[in-house]
Amino acid sequence: MSASNTNPFVDFRDVWLAYNDDLLARNDFAVEAIDLQVRQGEFIAIVGPSGCGKSTFMKLATGLKSPSRGSIRVDGQPVTGPVKISGMAFQAPSLLPWRTTVDNVLLPLEIVEPYRGQFKQRRAEYEQRARALLQKVGLADYEDKYPWQLSGGMQQRASICRALIHEPKMLLLDEPFGALDAFTREELWCILRDLWSERRFNVILVTHDLRESVFLADTVYVMSARPGRFVERRQIDLPRPRELEVTYTREFSDIVLELRGHIGAIRRTSPQAEATP
Ligand code: ADP
Repeated sequence: MSASNTNPFVDFRDVWLAYNDDLLARNDFAVEAIDLQVRQGEFIAIVGPSGCGKSTFMKLATGLKSPSRGSIRVDGQPVTGPVKISGMAFQAPSLLPWRTTVDNVLLPLEIVEPYRGQFKQRRAEYEQRARALLQKVGLADYEDKYPWQLSGGMQQRASICRALIHEPKMLLLDEPFGALDAFTREELWCILRDLWSERRFNVILVTHDLRESVFLADTVYVMSARPGRFVERRQIDLPRPRELEVTYTREFSDIVLELRGHIGAIRRTSPQAEATP
């Protein structure tokens, strides 16, 4: 199941995680036998039913959880604590309501070193960077507005800018577009596609939306329900740049159907799985 790759950017070797010692003693793992090698700049998506371990995988990749067994390296370094080279965005945009959009985007630079130490001296330059990023995602007129003055889609754009402001090598997205309507969601796919094409950071996208995974990713991993395991690795060879029109082609829907088949197979063998994608 591994990518043919000698120096992977993300490297999981036989990773298992039980959430606590009790569960470990009972061999009750949230995820098990995760093997995954991601090359530099690759966009991967992880799909699977609720509760299969997608968020757990994210916690492992960012160092918020340490594996019970196995090893994880990111950018050549063993992961032993929170990974600083990553940015994250979640389903809820979680912007601070008392800060303007641009000040929300600046937040990581006030917290993360080496930016934090230089924030006061370089504020004007950082602000320029935040504004340029907001303009790139179509929020030029909303830089100085407050979150409540923005639509859900706009808030999510701002939250992606916030995740990218410190130019992370890795962007982790946990269901980032799940709460948006279908049209807004597709707009955001294109924004993410363009940011990624320009900057080529690594992306790990967790999603229930199979179309989203096929449109955006280079490689889609399908996870089985508890214990979470990767049961399928599907390379997406649709040529880039991909336009939304591709989602209406036979080739595209065949891949989506194929992935759906894997999820269906998992659900038939796993009665405790919760929601379907
Ligand atoms: P997903 O993101 O795919 O919905 P999660 O990674 O959140 O799945 O959960 C995977 C499994 O781990 C689930 O069975 C869940 O109940 C369990 N789990 C998640 N967080 C904890 C925790 N803090 N303690 C114990 N079990 C947990």
